[in-house]
Amino acid sequence: DAPVLHSTELLDRRQQHFARPQKNYYSKPPQIERGWKEYLFDVEGRAYLDMVNNVTILGHGHPRLAAAVGRQWSLLNTNSRFHYASVAEFSERLAALAPDGLDTVFLVNSGSEANDLALRLAWAFSGERNVVSLLEAYHGWTVASDAVSTSIADNPRALETRPDWVHAVVAPNTYRGQFRGSDTTDHYVRSVATKLRELEDGAQGLAGFICEPVYGNAGGIPLPKGYLDAVYAMVRQRGGVCIADEVQVGYGRLGDYFWGFEEQGVVPDIITIAKGMGNGHPLGAVITRREIADALEKEGYFFSSSGGSPVSSVVGHTVLDLIEEEKLQDNARVVGGYLKTRLQALEQRFPLVGAVHGMGLYLGVEFVRDRNTLEPAKEETAAICDRLLELGVIMQPTGDHLNVLKIKPPLCLSRESADFFADMLTRVLDEGW
Ligand code: PMP
Repeated sequence: DAPVLHSTELLDRRQQHFARPQKNYYSKPPQIERGWKEYLFDVEGRAYLDMVNNVTILGHGHPRLAAAVGRQWSLLNTNSRFHYASVAEFSERLAALAPDGLDTVFLVNSGSEANDLALRLAWAFSGERNVVSLLEAYHGWTVASDAVSTSIADNPRALETRPDWVHAVVAPNTYRGQFRGSDTTDHYVRSVATKLRELEDGAQGLAGFICEPVYGNAGGIPLPKGYLDAVYAMVRQRGGVCIADEVQVGYGRLGDYFWGFEEQGVVPDIITIAKGMGNGHPLGAVITRREIADALEKEGYFFSSSGGSPVSSVVGHTVLDLIEEEKLQDNARVVGGYLKTRLQALEQRFPLVGAVHGMGLYLGVEFVRDRNTLEPAKEETAAICDRLLELGVIMQPTGDHLNVLKIKPPLCLSRESADFFADMLTRVLDEGW
């Protein structure tokens, strides 16, 4: 096997001036130079199958996206305070993709910003401050989006340091959560009801509830059936606003659904999106009802210098065109379904494979040391990811215990690439796990 090649000199230079809290995902990361579809190539010309990239949904190096961006850059890119066609057209298109009534769009630059704005909208609309969020969640790095991020994977002190307006409830993780199995909905709904009652007993109001409609940070675990329906009803009854963070799960990745909340059969009050909608270009959006958007006027006007710039709007448009033309949601369903079957076969062969979560091209393989205690196999997961890199596959751990393979490749993933990934994973497991 070829050794993993990297430029130590460049890495040293990165360490010198790049802020240290910005995570390095490998001790010896490959130096990536270019990409094509679901493949990345390092400076030595070595190819890697990119199975992690939840941003580049079209795939890397898409010539039509590059051409559209180039054309718009040379024509105009400016501060978003001006009037130009692409922002109107793109907002119209996003509103058309959302359920009826969610017809008002804010364009921003990232998922963190989108969630920050969603929380501010919930505060402004409800006139209240308290927000219920799930444990094990990640929603962003800005002050408000970070506040509702409870995952301890990247921030071990997260739970001790949340501000007092954040109220975390147990993660409805049907695999390893407090209640296990598919018929646990009532238990998890009751835990939210208890939290809401505590707030009421303390004469505290409710601004809203935020969660990913499919549990992304925990490895793509669907919420228990009926969970969001019941939770959204309780939240609305208390005047709160329901926010669906679709930053990872939305935009066709689930295959069967364009939006994650469709899987739960609900309609949120606010949808936040980013990542895939720009295929790597900084682009995010909040889609909501007019009355909720208008509530922000109480706090002044919203302005983002480059949120929804002409180039960003053209990127957003082109990404949607290509998702449709290249039938990427269908591909996520078909290739994702095939890949899931191959991964499930590993469950039979290797005791380490505790479960295969998810749907479409949003999958997670959870490694455990013991199928009864579900002791997370964190070190094994890290070692498996390192070995996969040597074999030409980019894969990383996710979840609070970092014991789940985060399988979120570009939606153009071919069946051959899915086979390559499954073959390499089988080989690594065969080597001794
Ligand atoms: N929400 C979710 C569910 C995410 O996974 C992320 C990014 N990992 C964010 C929000 C934040 O998005 P961004 O990195 O674009 O700010």
